[in-house]
Amino acid sequence: MNKKWETVIGLEVHVELATKSKIFCGCSTAYTDAPNTHCCPVCMGMPGTLPVLNGQVLDFAIKAGIALNCEIERETKFDRKNYFYPDLPKAYQISQLYRPIAHDGTVEIEVDGVKKYIRIREMHMEEDAGKLVHSAAHEETYPDYNRCGVPLLEIVSEPDFRSSKEVAAYLEKIRMLFSYLGIVDHRMLSGSMRADVNLSVRKAGSEEYGTRTEMKNINSIAAIVRAIESEASRQIDLLNSGKRVVQETRHWNDDKRTSYAMRSKENAQDYRYFPEPDIPPIVITEETVEQAMLSMPEFMNAKIRRFTEQYELPEDEAAMLASSKKEADFYEALVAEGTAPKTAANWLIEHVSRILREEETEYEAVDLSAEELAKLIAFVEGGNVNRKDGLKILEQMVKGCGPEDVERYIQEQQLTVSTDTSELAGIIEQVLKEHPDTVAEYLVGKEKVLGFLVGQVMRSTRGKYNPGVVNETLLAKLKSMKH
Ligand code: ADP
Ligand code: MG
Ligand code: ZN
Repeated sequence: MNKKWETVIGLEVHVELATKSKIFCGCSTAYTDAPNTHCCPVCMGMPGTLPVLNGQVLDFAIKAGIALNCEIERETKFDRKNYFYPDLPKAYQISQLYRPIAHDGTVEIEVDGVKKYIRIREMHMEEDAGKLVHSAAHEETYPDYNRCGVPLLEIVSEPDFRSSKEVAAYLEKIRMLFSYLGIVDHRMLSGSMRADVNLSVRKAGSEEYGTRTEMKNINSIAAIVRAIESEASRQIDLLNSGKRVVQETRHWNDDKRTSYAMRSKENAQDYRYFPEPDIPPIVITEETVEQAMLSMPEFMNAKIRRFTEQYELPEDEAAMLASSKKEADFYEALVAEGTAPKTAANWLIEHVSRILREEETEYEAVDLSAEELAKLIAFVEGGNVNRKDGLKILEQMVKGCGPEDVERYIQEQQLTVSTDTSELAGIIEQVLKEHPDTVAEYLVGKEKVLGFLVGQVMRSTRGKYNPGVVNETLLAKLKSMKH
């Protein structure tokens, strides 16, 4: 990157809220279901219908505003943003312009060990639009209105970012805050967060901002980072060759890794915003805000600190466990069930996380019982169930097809390691008889062959005994043969 130029970025981030029903009607938000199955006269904008604000959207928005350190507006209002597009049957979007629910916040980010605050200009509630489905098979396009009225928060930052790394850290931070608040679906991890990237460059040290472009609707952090890198160098090249940057909206094509101009930038006037006449102003009381503040969860950094102190975990392990609230909560539930903190951390980090990765899922999507897992861990760590069998059960549990009652299952399947060593002694004798040469080798000092003999015993007992016990009993027997 050319040292002479500084990149300036401001973001408008759209986040889908995980409410069951839409923002102004009772339709389900499950918009990926069959097209046009979650629509009603309200979300299709029929004349004479009245929108009614979903209380949960308001509640989620207040929490989000507090988490972004914003001031919460005491009387918030909706406005109509008018534009025509086939995925918007009302020909206007209900959004907020004049009195957004929250404003003047800050988000702390950290890049390469350096902390920085990004200012939030405002955050508002709005409804999503539908989408157009382009059917190649039938050579036609049709609208799917399921997504009309799905609740969104839009978070507008000041132009405070100076690199794509800062942008990525900010988006990760918002994702963490909102998933800790439980206001977004775990699917947000894979896409329901979209951002409009406003970017300009200026001479390093300059006070004034350069002319910016806006790349709309980019829907993954990786793609946003690529778009920023590409657009910054496009603008720098233009300026270096004496040309000007044109203020315009550009489309980022992530597959081709390039952007192209779509239209000259529109502004608020183009949308003919006016107050939404069908929804009265919403009064948010002091008490409501206080209640929401009290309900704030312990967020990631605080949790990592506490885990290292309370459970004496190394920081990297604490950080892995606290990467999602569901995982952290599950960890603590496991400890509450009596699993030693260090053991619980090992099982979650080593085994559960691995299985989740293999299954391409995450804690938020599975329903694990801490009580049953604690029992399983106790069986395995106590040497009463083989680790291999234990991990097999764990895998089933994570996949959601595990036993309801781990203890009963272990009994029924006869998975407990036997402590009846009289039977073991017989088997060992048999194995030694079958391998006289190996035994002879061992007796003249080739101790390496012990592993082979242990393996043979384990095989004949089908893992019924714990390897430690087999080892011990076998050694004792061989020792007695030396004399
Ligand atoms: P508009 O009203 O056209 O949407 P705003 O001034 O509200 O424009 O800004 C929209 C977004 O663009 C904000 O996130 C803001 O931080 C960002 N932005 C504004 N000016 C610049 C600039 N010169 N360079 C980069 N980003 C900018
Ligand atoms: Mg804008
Ligand atoms: Zn509806």
